[in-house]
Amino acid sequence: MDKNEKKVGYMTSMSKPGKGCAGDTGEWRVFKPVKDEEKCNHCLLCWIFCPEATITKDIEIDYQYCKGCGICAVECPTGAITMVKEEKQ
Ligand code: SF4
Ligand code: SF4
Repeated sequence: MDKNEKKVGYMTSMSKPGKGCAGDTGEWRVFKPVKDEEKCNHCLLCWIFCPEATITKDIEIDYQYCKGCGICAVECPTGAITMVKEEKQ
């Protein structure tokens, strides 16, 4: 166990974002989540529910791996996350 890790009384699994078989999700994502800092109360629900672990505990979204599923926007209790259509470059 790393000296910075704390022992807890339960087990959980954590994933890390990584390149999938379809490449970086940022290459094909249709919608992307955009956070409104004014509405965010840092409850961390989006961090918990994101299936790709692309949201940090500081509620920053890694758009390289976010697939645009919108789960974070659905789970956000304050409506701080809006799904916005990607602009073609
Ligand atoms: S849209 Fe999906 S993958 Fe992207 S940050 Fe939200 S929950 Fe995670
Ligand atoms: S779920 Fe919404 S309010 Fe909670 S941390 Fe995420 S963006 Fe902020």
